Amino acid sequence: MKQLITLDSNPDVYIVNQLVSYLSPQKIYVPIINSNYNVNDYIKKNTRFSSCFSSVSGLVSKQKKVLWNNEKVIAYEINNNYKEESISKIKYKKPTDLEEFKSLLEKYILNNILDKINKKEKIDKLIISSVDEEEYTLKEFIILANFHKEILATCEYLLKIFNIDEITLVTKNINAKSIRNVKSIIGTYPSIDFKLLPDKYLLGYDEYLCEYLNTDINNTLVLKTSDIYNIYNSIIKGKNITETILTISGDAITKSFIINTKIGVSLKEIIDNFIKFNTKEFNVYVNGYLKGNKIKDYEDIIITSSIDCIVFKSTTKEEEDECINCGACNKICPVNINVLKCLKHTLKSSKCIGCGLCNYICPAKIKLKEIVRGDKDEEKDN
Ligand code: SF4
Ligand code: SF4
Repeated sequence: MKQLITLDSNPDVYIVNQLVSYLSPQKIYVPIINSNYNVNDYIKKNTRFSSCFSSVSGLVSKQKKVLWNNEKVIAYEINNNYKEESISKIKYKKPTDLEEFKSLLEKYILNNILDKINKKEKIDKLIISSVDEEEYTLKEFIILANFHKEILATCEYLLKIFNIDEITLVTKNINAKSIRNVKSIIGTYPSIDFKLLPDKYLLGYDEYLCEYLNTDINNTLVLKTSDIYNIYNSIIKGKNITETILTISGDAITKSFIINTKIGVSLKEIIDNFIKFNTKEFNVYVNGYLKGNKIKDYEDIIITSSIDCIVFKSTTKEEEDECINCGACNKICPVNINVLKCLKHTLKSSKCIGCGLCNYICPAKIKLKEIVRGDKDEEKDN
């Protein structure tokens, strides 16, 4: 059995279960790839681009270099005219077999779900997980707590698509609101097995979850509640995904929160409208303090559905000391990497899963994960 870890609550990355909405941004950005618009061209909401749909309507105001899913790309800047004028909706019927279902996943740009399905030779079991991969994030929890009816209805639909008898839905036993809400209606879904998990780090990773549930990962498909909510909105309701939920936290800001926002808005605009800093010196981590990456040009970050959380961490708490040879990093590594050896000899390891536990445990605050993964310097360029 692989090691699962109980993490202390981190006062520097505290999170508050408060959901705010930001659905009328001034501007949004969409990558230019394979499209040909000019300044002042009118873009309707739901216009398809290479990796997203336009989440607002408005005029193209310029082209700009932005950070989209960790890559620098040129994007159109679209000035929101707040009319939400949409391209006309095509009439469509919800698919009833797997092949049709897969082609609609492609149409709605849900490629992450399609990839997960295509990687499996055989799917005998479906697990729906409301456990975030990163510890200090509440995206999956919020989705199950607020959209439990949609999640359960979609699970029932997926039973038929995948031709299986039972689905396991899991959440952590500390998520009181989602447990209460799911339990209030689970009686009408006899084919859904609702399981509560301990509050242990790494259960958000498919491999660790399957092992904990004693399930063979080779023929088990694990989807997140956010995947299920996207399937509900697109495949069942026929709507493009133009909104996303993420957690914003860290000791460099006065208040943490969870935000439901349009895809394509810049982090800069969210900062200007929602965030007060209590220091000028901070680092920005995308997708978590443990497993995320430190990003230098954070004002260029565009919010996409791949971003689950952003952490603003005061630099004064991040100053590195000399290694004291305590050995804690080697002891905690779940895949048994000799982290200390990697530090001493600047070695990389392809076994690293990027969990960040070595950084978390190190009393000298050495950025060990970045050394083991060989991306200590990459953060400076992004
Ligand atoms: S070396 Fe990689 S796998 Fe091991 S604790 Fe650090 S981040 Fe996790
Ligand atoms: S945890 Fe940090 S201080 Fe301890 S041995 Fe590892 S690198 Fe050195």
